[in-house]
Amino acid sequence: MENGAARQLSDFLASANKRELLALIRFLEEEAQEDDLFELFRLAGETRKASYGDRVFFRGLIEFSSFCKNDCYYCGIRRSNRKAARYRLTKNEIIDCCRSGYDLGFRTFVLQSGEDMFFSDEVLCGIVSGIKELFPECAVTLSVGERSRESYRRLFAAGTDRYLLRHETADEAHYAKLHPPEQALKNRKRCLYDLKELGYQVGAGLMVGSPFQTYETLAEDIIFLRDLQPHMAGIGPFIPHKETRFAGFPSPPPKSTPILLSLVRCLLPKVLLPATTALATSDKNGREKGLLAGANVVMPNLTPYEHRKDFSLYDNKLATGSEAAEGLSVLKRQIKGLGLKPDFSRGDHADFQKG
Ligand code: SAM
Repeated sequence: MENGAARQLSDFLASANKRELLALIRFLEEEAQEDDLFELFRLAGETRKASYGDRVFFRGLIEFSSFCKNDCYYCGIRRSNRKAARYRLTKNEIIDCCRSGYDLGFRTFVLQSGEDMFFSDEVLCGIVSGIKELFPECAVTLSVGERSRESYRRLFAAGTDRYLLRHETADEAHYAKLHPPEQALKNRKRCLYDLKELGYQVGAGLMVGSPFQTYETLAEDIIFLRDLQPHMAGIGPFIPHKETRFAGFPSPPPKSTPILLSLVRCLLPKVLLPATTALATSDKNGREKGLLAGANVVMPNLTPYEHRKDFSLYDNKLATGSEAAEGLSVLKRQIKGLGLKPDFSRGDHADFQKG
């Protein structure tokens, strides 16, 4: 085993310019043979091991509202999809989800929703502090979109530990093809930098194979992630939704998401990197491939069963089986089968671990 190769790749990614990154991505996508990709994934696995050992962290995902004021062209719950079923959980229902998650062993809860203005700062802070009162040793992650710096400050003060906000694409022109004019990349980036400055563990990220994505925009994504240095990165394949303008657009080839995951693992060795539901949806062995490419987080769904199908971001989104909290034993077995270790601790980023 070539010991310094993982380090070499990390060093290259840390300093490469856009042209060099583009060439690397093009090579991996178009020319690399199975052996080359196997080696890339091995290096990513080695890098993960150096940061977190063999641990794969479990997070309980609660999708608490499908209302959204935004109109992201790719997303099934965007506001102009009249056919989307809308639901909103109450504070008590959210806390009940946490309680069942806690009993199953989860020590991180990820609260995700559309941009639902019902959840004012006051309401959200009440929910976060309610969870923290009942489960003080648990981490709370929010993923509720773009808000003001003041709002992020208040949510942090209420006890929120982490925040996920994918940047979606770091390229202005590409961003404008995926979103209406009132949604601006500049504001997304502002949010991410605010969150970081305020002390959150921050997650950025993107869909692999989103419409109009190119090797060039991917190279820009790598450079953006390198500048931001997020603690988490949400990277999953684009999957079309039938009620969007991108209904006829394809998902990327199965190898593309693992390639990007492994590059991001080597770029940010300590990043917390989920093997996403979208990856498991798009390829029946997707989650395993993600974990073998350097991912180290899984997020089983704790949303009440009757609402799961309504958080429909893309077609055929998995919410049952090993994607669901009820299927934990299957998921644990799968992880152990890969030589990895299911871990139910809070799973903070290495720079945030106490002691
Ligand atoms: N509203 C919050 C936000 O904007 O961050 C959180 C919810 S949003 C629906 C979560 C993520 O779903 C988005 O960042 C996007 O990358 C992903 N998503 C939406 N539509 C998708 C699609 N068609 N395929 C794959 N992922 C999708």
